[in-house]
Amino acid sequence: MTARPSSTSSSFSAAQPAILDLQDVTFAYGEAAPAVGGLSLSVPAGAFAAIVGANGSGKSTLARLLDGLLLPTSGRVLVDGLDTADSEARWEVRRRVGLVFQNPDNQIVASIVEDDVAFGPENLGIEPALIKARVDASLAAVGMGAYRRHAPDELSGGQKQRVAIAGALAMQPRILVLDEPTAMLDPDGRQEVMEVIGRLHAGGMTVILITHYMEEAAVAERVVVMEAGCAVDDGPPDEVFSREHRGLELPPAAQIARALRARGLRLPAGLVTVEALADALRPLMRHAD
Ligand code: ADP
Ligand code: MG
Repeated sequence: MTARPSSTSSSFSAAQPAILDLQDVTFAYGEAAPAVGGLSLSVPAGAFAAIVGANGSGKSTLARLLDGLLLPTSGRVLVDGLDTADSEARWEVRRRVGLVFQNPDNQIVASIVEDDVAFGPENLGIEPALIKARVDASLAAVGMGAYRRHAPDELSGGQKQRVAIAGALAMQPRILVLDEPTAMLDPDGRQEVMEVIGRLHAGGMTVILITHYMEEAAVAERVVVMEAGCAVDDGPPDEVFSREHRGLELPPAAQIARALRARGLRLPAGLVTVEALADALRPLMRHAD
């Protein structure tokens, strides 16, 4: 494995100032071995980074460190320049980082979709007319405007998760952190949520997507591989998936590309998405037209 020391900031951070900056962050639950150990990571505004790694590698702990739900045992977490350990910045940090979790049912608190999305801004004490505008914009951003008067119970898993994302957006965060948001969804729901994530990123949102699905990581701009609380690799998906990582699958497209290469087909390196593989195979299909 070609591991990049986790203390080096990657070239991704060179162009723009970091919106997320983790400096040698360690976190331990009580007396246990650190769940995150010596992690340094810098994410520029507008980036779309995927975090992957085996169960227990510290991904969810990292998500909670990013919005100040957990504070580092040592090191610093800076969100948009705010230190999460600064008690005066705590609520502002939580406002700037929208967190979306795996189970949509645990995140939906109201019995009507629009009330659920309004819940966060209401707690901030924002005036009703402004809340309505935020709810409208947030539901539109996830394509759920038509469901505003529906009960969450009537929705599919993918729709519920989109409502949960709308709830996070209603706080007007600068960063969206999603911790395995598609893990409990069927394939349609997974696709809906990934399309929403793609649109939000295209619109300028900084996205941190923690995922078990390598095809989801493959469409990010950058993949960070966690192992035992450390980042052991960090780079564009085509590079990261060209290296060996213990316990990590390749995206399906990369598996197919590897199997075709093993059978003698000459394919370019770094095919990790279905689209890239299809583009590479198309010219080889002589009888396709
Ligand atoms: P991942 O999300 O990658 O599966 P986690 O961040 O959930 O990893 O867990 C990292 C390590 O921290 C694991 O060893 C896990 O058992 C431990 N851990 C996670 N949450 C808690 C907790 N609330 N109390 C104690 N240990 C925890
Ligand atoms: Mg987890």
